[in-house]
Amino acid sequence: MSSATLNPLPRTYRVRTYGCQMNVHDSERLSGLLEEAGYTAAADDGDADVVVLNTCAVRENADNRLYGNLGQLRPVKDARPGMQIAVGGCLAQKDRGEIVRRAPWVDVVFGTHNVGSLPTLLERARHNAEAQVEIVESLEVFPSTLPAKRDSAYSGWVSISVGCNNTCTFCIVPALRGTEKDRRPGDILAEVEALVDQGVLEVTLLGQNVNAYGVDFRDRGAFADLLRATGRIEGLERVRFTSPHPREFTDDVIAAMAETPVVCHQLHMPLQSGSDDVLRRMRRGYRQERYLGIIDRVRAAMPDAAITTDIIVGFPGETEAEFQQTLDVVAQARFAGAFTFQYSKRPGTPAAEMDGQLPKDVVQERYLRLTALQEEISWSENRAQVGRRVEVLVAAGEGSKDAATGRRSGRARDGRLVHFVAAEGGRPGDVRPGDVVETVVTDAKPHFLVADGPLVSHRRTRAGNASESGIRPTTPGVGLGMPRIGVPEPLPVLAAGC
Ligand code: SF4
Repeated sequence: MSSATLNPLPRTYRVRTYGCQMNVHDSERLSGLLEEAGYTAAADDGDADVVVLNTCAVRENADNRLYGNLGQLRPVKDARPGMQIAVGGCLAQKDRGEIVRRAPWVDVVFGTHNVGSLPTLLERARHNAEAQVEIVESLEVFPSTLPAKRDSAYSGWVSISVGCNNTCTFCIVPALRGTEKDRRPGDILAEVEALVDQGVLEVTLLGQNVNAYGVDFRDRGAFADLLRATGRIEGLERVRFTSPHPREFTDDVIAAMAETPVVCHQLHMPLQSGSDDVLRRMRRGYRQERYLGIIDRVRAAMPDAAITTDIIVGFPGETEAEFQQTLDVVAQARFAGAFTFQYSKRPGTPAAEMDGQLPKDVVQERYLRLTALQEEISWSENRAQVGRRVEVLVAAGEGSKDAATGRRSGRARDGRLVHFVAAEGGRPGDVRPGDVVETVVTDAKPHFLVADGPLVSHRRTRAGNASESGIRPTTPGVGLGMPRIGVPEPLPVLAAGC
């Protein structure tokens, strides 16, 4: 008899997520799987019977953070008989059995390719009273075939591919997430339709390198076609995507963005460095001229596009002159915003072994110069929005409501954060997360816009009704996934991106 049948109360779970959007998306799948297996979400302030740590190997000191968190969980587990701890994600894929050796109170370790195994592994660990470590090497079935417990009633993530065929020298992703696997367009569109049926207004298409989508079935135009096809789904209002790679970015994608009304005029395209020599050492596969050319063509087709980026400062061997080229590109590109990172070694990456690792103070000083320049540009670009009418999808969660000012928050179509006053015709408005409002920008700061006038319009939506009900939506798995090949045992062997 399984131990699950001995316990009359449903076991509770909590998933803690670290790292990127791929992990956030995987965590929705983990929650969906656990609920399907009979677990219920733990109360926000209560302990859980199962704690899942969905880890990230990309951030600095990720290992220390994981073992620190596991150390904190140990006394909690000692005081709660039957509690289980599971560790998944990139760090689990990297450290494997090392995790249960260093933290023997961990019950389950699962990798990036077998998210779907979690309930079975938990069950097996309880039944056998011993830790289960299962890491598989490659994707065999798409994670989207799993159910998902989604955080948002109005916005959803949809994986179009997992893994990456590039070999950027600073990145651990290809080693941990494998080569790119593309999902069939029909499965992707069916998942988007299922989300829209539930009231979702906005989807973000997710992949390590969305512009390479189609490489698996040899169709270079596949991503542009996918954007156009999502535009034909009735009821869908906003489509975004992340992340595009400058190397594979085609003009056809720019045309599809411009021609498809639901595709938002927003582009987050990593630059990483403005120096051709640094880009070569990073093995990025494009040069400054190509990057700026894409930006020019995007702006020519969509003058209102908000373009954001990622930049790494202090890559091994970066000279002052090379850094200056990054500043020059930033000044020319006039990004609406940028995520800036100080380079630090990631064990297992080629860049970690390169000569010319820079002292921390040099990296820090350059970082401050870069962020000061970008801050000034972001602010000036935001000031140019003052007086414009913007459509805002009202956000949920912490920080979306300011008690002192009475402002609510949401995202404009171009991705900008807007804090607005929800007053309608002189009365306080009944604005819910997931509703859509129109308002006029009255002020701008470097990282957000302010709209302190009355609303121009307020549309109540099904997503708003769902948010009001407080129920987190569940989506069944969609699609047939990929053919299963050589699965060693009768466990669902599934995968995720990073
Ligand atoms: S394209 Fe992105 S995920 Fe792929 S190797 Fe480069 S940085 Fe990593």
